[in-house]
Amino acid sequence: MAVQAPVTFMFQPEMETLPRERLAALQLERLRRTVRTAYDNVAHYRAAFDSAGVKPEEVRSLDDVAALPFTVKDDLRRNYPFGLFAVPRQQVIRLHASSGTTGKPTVVGYTRDDLGMWGDLCARTMVAGGARPGDIVHNAYGYGLFTGGLGYHYGAERLGCTVTPMSGGNTERQIVLIQDFGADVLCCTPSYALNIAEVADREGVDLRKAPLRLAVFGAEPWSEAMRKEIEERLGIRCQDTFGLSEILGPGVAAECEERAGLHGWEDHFLFEIVDPETLKPLPAGETGELVITTLTKQALPMIRYRTRDITRLTDEPCGCGRTHLRLMRITGRTDDMLIIRGVNVFPSQVEAVLVGFPGVEPHYQLVVSREGVYDHLTVEVEAVAALPQAEYRRVGADVGHHLKSMIGLSCTVAVKAPGEIPRSQGKAVRVRDVRKKA
Ligand code: ADP
Ligand code: ZN
Repeated sequence: MAVQAPVTFMFQPEMETLPRERLAALQLERLRRTVRTAYDNVAHYRAAFDSAGVKPEEVRSLDDVAALPFTVKDDLRRNYPFGLFAVPRQQVIRLHASSGTTGKPTVVGYTRDDLGMWGDLCARTMVAGGARPGDIVHNAYGYGLFTGGLGYHYGAERLGCTVTPMSGGNTERQIVLIQDFGADVLCCTPSYALNIAEVADREGVDLRKAPLRLAVFGAEPWSEAMRKEIEERLGIRCQDTFGLSEILGPGVAAECEERAGLHGWEDHFLFEIVDPETLKPLPAGETGELVITTLTKQALPMIRYRTRDITRLTDEPCGCGRTHLRLMRITGRTDDMLIIRGVNVFPSQVEAVLVGFPGVEPHYQLVVSREGVYDHLTVEVEAVAALPQAEYRRVGADVGHHLKSMIGLSCTVAVKAPGEIPRSQGKAVRVRDVRKKA
């Protein structure tokens, strides 16, 4: 008998391994349908297409998507709350709103089919990271308007896990339940996991001895250095996932166990990279702004949504056997990019230098102020408890030198006493802008 090669466990193996030509054919069929429905049912899309001089029937190939108008967050705000829905409101059985990290929240809606698809994609996403049916899933993503909590909740149920719908906050209680229930999988933001690790340390609890083996992270940028830190402190594997409420919520893309980028689920989304300045599509493999078109969403179809997230794509075969392209780790969003004396930096690049640096804890905040005509950056880091106050200045100077030599950043480093940097309850606030608005 022939020995069969071990097969990666997948939630929807047939779809996840669909040959790329068949995937492209499916995408085109779905794209044409989405464009038609959006045009026929949403006044905003009709007006945008008409003023760009394109008609739905002119989409004949996947490349034709480049002729379609972009959709931006402001379009959702201008059509607040339900103006972009493509189905009668009675068919929208769930509402969510984005967390409003960068302004007024935007409302999104789901039909029954949308919720089914969302559950499937969150289940796929969790399996890609290493979750399995029967696992106990401790879900510490916020429940409520934020898509994180309910998104993963339904994904975990769909997969056949036992879900603890914990939501964020009350970290001491989370630690008790993770141990008492014997959670296998933790779902939360990386910054909140660090908070859990810290509180556990303080309470003398060694979570490395608990059954917990995997964390499904997402919702914010984080560095490889942070992955290593949290993996060591909790004794688990930490996997990255990506999503955004305007497109779906969690479950848009998932890192597999190869850790070579995040598979974007192409049977439901069309991914493009454009130059954020010129908005022209960039050649394959180049870094730029991620643009996503939904291919199956009924309530809220999104045509060429500008995510503002910076990444690059690859469709090279992946060792896991999934055929869907991969998004390289998201370094940050254009809104969070700082330009300090001509140097462009994302908070996650600063994080990569700080985490693991001798004498400081992996907690930080970036404070942007104005000095004359220049923006000035102060990096606030926290001293480890054992560091004598007399050493703060020296450690700050060391950190400053490293930031300068590793990423070319000139800044002031302020070393704070233990506990002085606010801890994350969900999405961490990494930048404080104290510039006087002109
Ligand atoms: P808001 O735009 O109000 O923050 P969302 O809660 O929908 O609303 O957040 C989606 C955003 O979160 C993404 O556009 C991206 O900037 C960020 N994000 C989500 N997952 C990741 C990830 N794995 N890595 C980096 N950033 C992420
Ligand atoms: Zn893979």
